[in-house]
Amino acid sequence: MEISATDLDRLGDEIAELSAHLDAATAQLLDLIREFDARSGWNTGFRSCAAWLSWRIGLDLGAARERVRVARALGTLPQLAHALARGELSYAKVRALTRVATPETEERLLAVGKAGTAEHVERIVRGWRRVDRIAEARETARRHNSRALHVYQDEDGMVVIRGRLAPEVGAVLVRALDAARETLYQRSREAVGDTVIEDVPAETPTMAQQQADALALVAETALHHGIDPGVPGDRYQVVVHVDAPVLADTDAPGQSILEDGTHVPAETCRRLACDASRVVMRHDAHGHVVEVGARTRTIPPALRRALHHRDRGCRFPGCGLPSGQGHHVRHWANGGPTTLSNLALLCRRHHRAVHEEGYRVDRQPDGALRFRRPDGELLPAVPPPATVPVDPVEVLRARHDAQGLRVHARTSMPGWLGERLDVGWAIDVLHPLAAARV
Ligand SMILES: [Zn+2]
Ligand SMILES: [Zn+2]
Repeated sequence: MEISATDLDRLGDEIAELSAHLDAATAQLLDLIREFDARSGWNTGFRSCAAWLSWRIGLDLGAARERVRVARALGTLPQLAHALARGELSYAKVRALTRVATPETEERLLAVGKAGTAEHVERIVRGWRRVDRIAEARETARRHNSRALHVYQDEDGMVVIRGRLAPEVGAVLVRALDAARETLYQRSREAVGDTVIEDVPAETPTMAQQQADALALVAETALHHGIDPGVPGDRYQVVVHVDAPVLADTDAPGQSILEDGTHVPAETCRRLACDASRVVMRHDAHGHVVEVGARTRTIPPALRRALHHRDRGCRFPGCGLPSGQGHHVRHWANGGPTTLSNLALLCRRHHRAVHEEGYRVDRQPDGALRFRRPDGELLPAVPPPATVPVDPVEVLRARHDAQGLRVHARTSMPGWLGERLDVGWAIDVLHPLAAARV
């Protein structure tokens, strides 16, 4: 019995020692991830560093996001980073502490991490966040209360408007003004086209004047529609005018113009046309509309359902986002058929990647899709595994030895002696805003 207990102690020590080695190695891993992220190494068709990690090293997306978050946080928290790199603080504790730590509070939180068990740390972080949330809610309430719109008449009869809007409300207003400006610009363009008078310089209104006109249109429209916000999808629509040859051949001369008159690259046009409600307006050489077709969907609803059922989500390697657009592997304007075998579901981000960013996708004879980066490199759906030494743990130990890192069974032992943890008291003592708590 005696011998067996000693054996088990040794086994326990070995677990503790190797765990500390792994935590130290995790710190190095996080350093690499932080640099890779900062230098956008993942920006080779992936929507984020987490998506790349998930694809390349096989983490589930949630864990990958957490790694990236912790890696970024440690960039500004040198003491926590150092403790992890020394194997003195476990990754689990560091992960919890980085949710609340700031450069001002990290020293105190590091002490909490070293003294307490993982469970203590978790509870203190929860209490900490509650105090943060209360402070944040108070700040939000203060900002919300400061919302205001003053409308009054100036001495010369003009109406003056001044106000403060919550960010999301402001964003809606800005979008509405943008949309109204575009409509007004389009109307003025049509008017000029009808009159065909040369040499009359149209006076271009200033941006401020355009905004004023746009606000008037927004108000008129709101009253006309009985102030009905409608469904989200209806609020704003993009209409593309295009010369038919441009769709078939991106190098062909011709115009592809958004409704506000901005020229858009032909590839963008092809992307929008890939999966859209389309009204084809053909223009003659002078830009006049000569023919307006009926409004049809490029991909009929039944086929779209079949496509969603088959692909489930975006087909780009490592993505899999559940919603997407139907991409014609061979574009319909080039004679590609709108059939299941010629369609692939791609999310918005990756649909852009294959049209405008030089990524390529084709379908193999066996039906599998093959993606390539702009430099021609294949992007496999599953990357090849990394080469691992025969005894990776020995290599890890040797590397830590070479770095002069002494890790042993008690390196990450908490200083806790078994006393009861009073979270409320701990937060009151530690949190800088706790004194202001109601
Ligand atoms: Zn497409
Ligand atoms: Zn995607």
